[in-house]
Amino acid sequence: MEPYPYKFVPIYKEKIWGGRNLQRLFGRDLPPGESIGESWELADLVEGVSRVANGPAAGATLTDLTSRLGPRLLGGSRPMPDGRFPLLLKLLDANDILSLQVHPDADAVKAIGPGAALKTECWYVIESRGGMIYKGVLPGVTAEQFRKAVQSDTVERFVNACKVEAGDFHYLPAATVHALGAGVVVAEVQTPSDITYRVTDWGRGREIHVERSMRCIHFAETDDFTEAADAAPDGDTLLAKGVRPLFPRINFSEADDMAPDGDTLPGADGETLLVTEFFTVARREASAGKPASLPAGRCAAVMMLDAKTPAEVRHAGPAEPATKVRAGDTVLIPACLKKPEIVTDSACAWLEVTLPEGKDRG
Ligand SMILES: [Zn+2]
Repeated sequence: MEPYPYKFVPIYKEKIWGGRNLQRLFGRDLPPGESIGESWELADLVEGVSRVANGPAAGATLTDLTSRLGPRLLGGSRPMPDGRFPLLLKLLDANDILSLQVHPDADAVKAIGPGAALKTECWYVIESRGGMIYKGVLPGVTAEQFRKAVQSDTVERFVNACKVEAGDFHYLPAATVHALGAGVVVAEVQTPSDITYRVTDWGRGREIHVERSMRCIHFAETDDFTEAADAAPDGDTLLAKGVRPLFPRINFSEADDMAPDGDTLPGADGETLLVTEFFTVARREASAGKPASLPAGRCAAVMMLDAKTPAEVRHAGPAEPATKVRAGDTVLIPACLKKPEIVTDSACAWLEVTLPEGKDRG
């Protein structure tokens, strides 16, 4: 089987906080009448496995591709210990706020034992209709203060809140308490795990996991938190106080105008947003008629953010030499492809997610 750029059938997940915005933004054919919160774009979990949508391998699972292609797909990167694909990509449509939640880090996984799995994630904001995110406990908050606040439903006073706009990028390493606020659509890049502990569901009645959450979150040892603002924090207040997103906002139209020539790969401009031991995320763009090289020799995924006309992923091999990519599409680029590139008739921009090389996760 000759590898080629793979597209997958999205796996839609109905959520109480979901909406229909993936249809409006990307023309997705969503299941009728359902509030869709998540579209799993690239997933190899027990809870959902992606199936190839294009070319001769159509219908094959990502699990199959990973085991059949091995290093031809993953390059120097390793699959998960159970042989599954080591990355999870989603689109999230938060029409209402998500639960305030946390995922375990390596220490918490050891403490909690079987069933726990590390999960590190990041969000690239595709659209924000005046939305906010919550991210991290405010400095100096102790476990005791936080626990009391959970019990009295005032926990939002103890977490960072940031107003977000399209183009913002937020890193949420394992053990960071977080919530995506209402009115925000993001592309989510994460390690493959579905383990989520809810601190609060804001009174909606779904199960919460306070004890497990408390074991994941890192708190201050001593009580030196001062409530400078007695009111619940709003993003602008916190921004004024110097609580800022980890990365500066990238303004899409400005970035188009400013695009300098000559970057790490020919034909495209880009910026690395995040490097972790699990994955690297960059935002890249190409202009009309100027092919942009994609990573070769390592496994990569393209999440197309914006493309006025469909772009094409091309490569030098015989199978599926040109794969159409529209805004909202995700394409998996096997490490063995020769000269993978994006060719476009109009400016386009994408997230490029690459796996580390030579990492032993076993
Ligand atoms: Zn999360």
